[in-house]
Amino acid sequence: MPDSILDSAPDLRPAKLDFIREIITADLASGKHATTITRFPPEPNGYLHIGHAKSICLNFGIAQENAASGARCHLRFDDTNPEKEELEYVESIKTDVKWLGFDWGEYLYYASDYFEFYYQCAVHLIEQGKAYVEQQSAEEMRANRGNLTQPGVHSPHRDRPLKESLDLFARMRAGDFKEGECVLRAKIDMASPNLNLRDPVIYRILHAEHHNTGSAWCIYPMYDFAHPLEDALEHITHSLCTLEFENHRPLYDWFIDNCPVPSKPRQIEFARLNLSYTIMSKRKLLQLVQEGHVCGWDDPRLPTLSGIRRRGYPAAALRHFCRRVGITKFNGTTDVALLEFDVRDFLNSSAPRRMAVLDPLKVILENHLPGTLEQVDIPNHPQNPDAGVRQVTLSREIWIERDDFMEVPPKKFYRLGPDRHVRLRGAHIIRCTSYEKDADGKVTLVRAEVLPGTLGASTPEGVECRAAIHWVDATHGADAELRIYERLFSVEDPDAAEGGFLSVINPQSLTTITAKIEPCLATAEPGFACQFERIGYFVADSADHQPGRKPVFNRTVALRDSWAKKAGA
Ligand code: ATP
Ligand code: MG
Repeated sequence: MPDSILDSAPDLRPAKLDFIREIITADLASGKHATTITRFPPEPNGYLHIGHAKSICLNFGIAQENAASGARCHLRFDDTNPEKEELEYVESIKTDVKWLGFDWGEYLYYASDYFEFYYQCAVHLIEQGKAYVEQQSAEEMRANRGNLTQPGVHSPHRDRPLKESLDLFARMRAGDFKEGECVLRAKIDMASPNLNLRDPVIYRILHAEHHNTGSAWCIYPMYDFAHPLEDALEHITHSLCTLEFENHRPLYDWFIDNCPVPSKPRQIEFARLNLSYTIMSKRKLLQLVQEGHVCGWDDPRLPTLSGIRRRGYPAAALRHFCRRVGITKFNGTTDVALLEFDVRDFLNSSAPRRMAVLDPLKVILENHLPGTLEQVDIPNHPQNPDAGVRQVTLSREIWIERDDFMEVPPKKFYRLGPDRHVRLRGAHIIRCTSYEKDADGKVTLVRAEVLPGTLGASTPEGVECRAAIHWVDATHGADAELRIYERLFSVEDPDAAEGGFLSVINPQSLTTITAKIEPCLATAEPGFACQFERIGYFVADSADHQPGRKPVFNRTVALRDSWAKKAGA
């Protein structure tokens, strides 16, 4: 499996450049920019999710592809809002970006480090007659803003003397006012058809502690004002954001044109990633976590990158998926089955095979002498000899899957039944000699004999054996907790559910079962990923799996898309 994005770059590169890469390529070719500098600017108010992965792959991907010209991507924590940010989120974001395979190197920034600069820009705007201190209430401002058909009404404070605004703004900073008593507004155009340009608020009072600057400030810049200034300060050439900021671009440009900034970044918007059966809003994810609908931000059912990692999705599969979804200007929803397909595809080639029995039925191999132990060499990967072989113990008693035995086999059932043959994966052919049932008619035990000379692949003449089944040695195998995950929501668009997204949580999203696993799985390290033959892809849980003591495995994805089948039926 390709480990770094560079290894996998050749087959990931789309045949045609997307429109953003086209613009960047043209800007480099024309000499408009000597190199390109992008940024990924998360607000540290939650964990990253797969939508962020799209933005990370785009911004860091562009930097990697243009590394020859010195391109780079900044990781910038957009932490200008004092009320919601936490250090835990900062750490998790760094971990997630690294896990996805990207490196910001020395280019780590905090937007809160620029508070003084935003302030100076605001003062500059006032001095230029392009900003004023507003003392109307929020309701009055709203009422005077107008709407799509009506122009706004000028504030009585719009034309107050510059000196008065300068003085009031200094007093806002000094803490002379309560929250909401005054704000600073840009003086642009109250009749603009774009409501964002109708004298937007650029500073507000918040008597709140900030995790970085403590109580140094009690006025904080609005996002629309701070963001272009951050980009310009860092000499970002292309500021890539999602489509909902398209109507904010004239404002972005206005701040760049009217503030004393050292560079002119260009904002370009692209469609955000939406996935079926998934919610992406941080607020809703937080609610799922806080109300205990899931067991933490890294619950394997969540679309958070930490959940996806714990679930066992390879980072390379995620990068491939983001490439395949592509960058466009059109909002749409991507089928989550596409992501699952990529995950299966990567794991199919990379994950070693192991055996586990989920619904065990005991088989006694009668001609296998009690106490004797056989070591069977089994290939770790059917297509890849480099994956080597492992030794698996086989003794007189083994477990097979209950539905691999049928008393009255229908046509085309090639597994075990009375007097029938089947191959134990990687080992011998066995023949069922008899079986036992309990009072309810349930088969409780199967007796079988090992056919001599059938180890490996040979099938004696006259023996019909058309299938191989997986098995676990009952003497040396171990018990493991398996967590079988299904989609967290039972409808395609949980955000649109009438009773709200909580009302459509899939009650079967997590089923825990005890299974029999082959001995080497019990001592696997947390994070070990493999295919349980014929069952699906599993990973040793990073939080709860204890090697040699308490094996816990998460199902990453089933072998086939059983959901599509179910939905079809
Ligand atoms: P919120 O607005 O709730 O804070 P957000 O998703 O905008 O959430 P940010 O931390 O501001 O969160 O996002 C960081 C970056 O990731 C932004 O540039 C944003 O455009 C991008 N991003 C967020 N969600 C998606 C998505 N679903 N698809 C693509 N990019 C996204
Ligand atoms: Mg945001």
